[in-house]
Amino acid sequence: MQVNKANIIEVCPRDGFQNINEFIPTETKLKVIDGLVNSGFQKIQVTSFVHPKAVPQMKDAKEIAQTVIEKYPNVDFTALVPNLFGAKAAYESGIKEISYVISASEAHNKENVRRTIEESFEGLAEIRNRFKDLTLKLDIATAFGCPFLGEVPVSQVLKMIGTALKIGVDYIFLADTIGVANPKQVGETLEAVKDKYPDRDFGLHLHDTRGMGLANVLVAIERGISTFESAAGGLGGCPFAPGAAGNIASEDLVNMLERMDISTGIDLNKLIDTTDFIKEKIKADLTGHLANICRK
Ligand code: ZN
Repeated sequence: MQVNKANIIEVCPRDGFQNINEFIPTETKLKVIDGLVNSGFQKIQVTSFVHPKAVPQMKDAKEIAQTVIEKYPNVDFTALVPNLFGAKAAYESGIKEISYVISASEAHNKENVRRTIEESFEGLAEIRNRFKDLTLKLDIATAFGCPFLGEVPVSQVLKMIGTALKIGVDYIFLADTIGVANPKQVGETLEAVKDKYPDRDFGLHLHDTRGMGLANVLVAIERGISTFESAAGGLGGCPFAPGAAGNIASEDLVNMLERMDISTGIDLNKLIDTTDFIKEKIKADLTGHLANICRK
């Protein structure tokens, strides 16, 4: 059931930049987003509406969101929100789709958002009730493994999907937040998920921490999954593994899929120009493969 078309959602301006300590000037962030739009991305996660004290890098969330929404009315810009307050700020900035994160591991959820999983679901329900016209996406973080507990049982992921659908989320992504998923595990998890929820589409958010990112994409594609989040240059890192590779790199993903005759709608050369710009302007190690091939 291999797909012939994939949807790639670019998350570098949020997941990638969030992991960089030194503040990236708003103007530079906007230029990166320009490059991503010009490369053909139809959906880009541009920022996170978090408290600026928690993540100072995202203190320009409102300005970024408002600027790009006005400039590119035909592109979908999404944002991450941790709570109702963030959802309200995103909504007031013109964002139409938000991502909300709950970890499959209780310990990781506590560490990440200082709430129990149950409290996080209550927060999600609150957002759903309050903002009925926002598209609401749930990211199930650590769906394939947790830095504290190790492997996460598939039954836990299935249970969370059930709760989220009852609340009325529009769609769900499974995230390998710390990059531990292996292809066999991804295949088995997706089969269990598709078995229980055959009429729903799911997406994957993968990290390449241990070099298994694209192998996991391949396994997902073979099971009919066609929506992936990735970051230009492979930015993203992992707070629990300093120096580790980040998200799967968008340019590596586009290159692999296009060579397999799976269309992405992304212009690879323009995307590589954008990663070159990131490399030049932002002090961070790009861990993507194509990003590190010398083209000069
Ligand atoms: Zn990520």
